[in-house]
Amino acid sequence: MSTIDFSKLKEYDSLSKKEQQFLGEIEQEKLRTSKIKNLIENHLSQRAEIKNKISSTNNLILEKEAQVKILLEQKNRLMDQGLSEEKVKEYAQKIDQLESDAFALFEEVDQLETELKETITFENGARKTLSDIETEVNETIAKKEQDITNIKNHLLSITEELPEHIKNLLSKMIAKKLTHGPFTKIADGACLMCRFKISKIDENEIDVHRNLKQCPQCTRIFLPYGS
Ligand SMILES: [Zn+2]
Repeated sequence: MSTIDFSKLKEYDSLSKKEQQFLGEIEQEKLRTSKIKNLIENHLSQRAEIKNKISSTNNLILEKEAQVKILLEQKNRLMDQGLSEEKVKEYAQKIDQLESDAFALFEEVDQLETELKETITFENGARKTLSDIETEVNETIAKKEQDITNIKNHLLSITEELPEHIKNLLSKMIAKKLTHGPFTKIADGACLMCRFKISKIDENEIDVHRNLKQCPQCTRIFLPYGS
């Protein structure tokens, strides 16, 4: 059996792990901006709600004012007709009540206008932060994507240099898309990845004689000790 250059496989293993790490880091970077975007979205829907409240409260105020106008006319008519003071007083009380209701609603609108301004201030701040972070995130992602491209090219050149049977085995293993990649090693007499017990004879063949073997359970390729 021809000797196998395990150092190439080992290099392949660590490079592809590095690639996975970069992909994970890119996702983390994207999360940074999507968090702020969500925050801004929330403020926009909050603002729409406040605007609706302001417009419905303003409508209520208009209604109260119209009622006051009608009651005032009725009250004046009663007074002109010289009808009972009791009745006139009743109207005056109703008008007072409506006016104080309207005043309370005015204050509510004021409060809502303040809240509206606060959401705008917050949004402007968040947009500024977002644009700063986006610049930073895009730069980081571009750099990592370049790193990944380099890694992919490197992996390709390693694969091309492998003997045909190992290249085939490796491409079959890659197609399986196993978590943590297609390689494993022996740790405490078992496969490091799936903990399948490896016999002393097999361990010897792998670590001492450096034969190419796969784990009988998870099918990962064993990298010999020290390779
Ligand atoms: Zn295994």
